[in-house]
Amino acid sequence: MKVLKFGGTSVGSAERMKKVAHLIEGEPKWVVLSAMSGTTNALVEIARAMNYNKLNDAKQQVRALEEQYEKVVDELYATAEYKKRAYEEVKNLFDIAWQLSTQKLTPQQNSVPFALLLTYRENKLLSIGELLSTRLFHLYLLENGVKTCLLPALEFMRLDVHGEPDNAYIKSKLKQLMDANPGYDIYLTQGFICLDSENHVDNLKRGGSDYTASLIGAAIKADEIQIWTDIDGIHNNDPRFVEGTCPVRSLHFEEAAELAYFGAKILHPTCIQPAKQYHIPVRLLNTLQPESEGTLIHDESPSGHLKAVAAKDNIISIRIHSGRMLLAYGFLRKVFEIFERHRTPIDMITTSEVGVSLTIDDPTHLDDIVNDLQHFGTVEVEEDMVIICVVGDLSPLNPGFPSAIVNALNEIPVRMISYGGSAYNLSFLVKSEDKIQTLKSLSSHLFSNK
Ligand code: ADP
Ligand code: ASP
Ligand code: MG
Repeated sequence: MKVLKFGGTSVGSAERMKKVAHLIEGEPKWVVLSAMSGTTNALVEIARAMNYNKLNDAKQQVRALEEQYEKVVDELYATAEYKKRAYEEVKNLFDIAWQLSTQKLTPQQNSVPFALLLTYRENKLLSIGELLSTRLFHLYLLENGVKTCLLPALEFMRLDVHGEPDNAYIKSKLKQLMDANPGYDIYLTQGFICLDSENHVDNLKRGGSDYTASLIGAAIKADEIQIWTDIDGIHNNDPRFVEGTCPVRSLHFEEAAELAYFGAKILHPTCIQPAKQYHIPVRLLNTLQPESEGTLIHDESPSGHLKAVAAKDNIISIRIHSGRMLLAYGFLRKVFEIFERHRTPIDMITTSEVGVSLTIDDPTHLDDIVNDLQHFGTVEVEEDMVIICVVGDLSPLNPGFPSAIVNALNEIPVRMISYGGSAYNLSFLVKSEDKIQTLKSLSSHLFSNK
């Protein structure tokens, strides 16, 4: 069975949903939907207004969003019966938003930290986006006679105590649910949303519907995972900043995983991992141009090429200068232990005789980390940095590629370079103000003749 995920733009209007219904005709498949485009952002804004106790603003925004959905219902269904059922669904879900926006949270409620209460409320609110799109699409398919089973993501998608997907649980729940509901043409579910290990509504972070699709793909050992979006596959550079980018037709899992992790917005940072683990091909396709070839991510890929560039924003660099590093075995272990203790992953690292430079993207524990690191030497922190990652066949068997990349950086003040961590990636750190120039320069030096 294949798993097809449709992103926000792909289901962004009644007309687009009808198009998706055509695209999924044929053999039985899993279909994962994001919220309609703009909805999650609107819900984030509503949560923000609630957190600042601007309840009137929140209510107005809830009302405006509800009106948009009423219009979608008007346009999507042909029959009075299905319009009525869809209005009821919309009303039920917006009732939850109304209740949340009138709820007064008080510090110390049930001895749960206040910040956590706000997070629980926000996560519940955000889940409404995917619940809306899937329930409306479910009714549309039923109205059109498609044998569809809507399996709620909150019944099988769950995180473990470390906030990672609980794969064993997901697999066994999915099996139970599919065994109990055999013979459907479409198994439909929500992307993005899940439960945490204590059964609070949670999510897989922004863009997480891609991850839902690959987690389901891995759990059911799908033949293929398809990510349908608004562009014809992964381009060789970020089309939001660089003109004239081209789709890359074939990527190795490792290359795609690096691109996703290092910022290519088209893929959720960790969504390639489950597919890679079970060797399930991932195809990126364009809902607006279904006939385009898109990008195939798989176990093979033509070698001898540089493929693409991506940028990861909001990076913090930390430099530790220490006279004691010279010949001091155990020094790096002590540094790494600090990051481990504060549950903060390190992205990039470079070392010299007198110091270590590394980067993180999660500022939550920055102050504590810096305090602890100061025991070893002087610590410098710089925020607002960007990791730029070039992926392709960067094995030592292609000696010209690192120098071609470095040549493209002639004019750029580069802060760190990392090469050799894998055979697929060379990455470096620049200030955010140099990001666009760097991306453009890499495209013109590396891909201009393609
Ligand atoms: P969806 O809502 O379908 O999940 P996203 O907005 O998350 O879609 O991802 C698609 C967008 O990613 C594209 O419209 C494009 O602007 C952006 N993007 C960033 N980097 C790339 C890249 N390397 N290749 C293609 N698209 C990219
Ligand atoms: N709706 C969520 C978001 O906007 C998840 C997704 O689109 O993948 O981030
Ligand atoms: Mg996305």
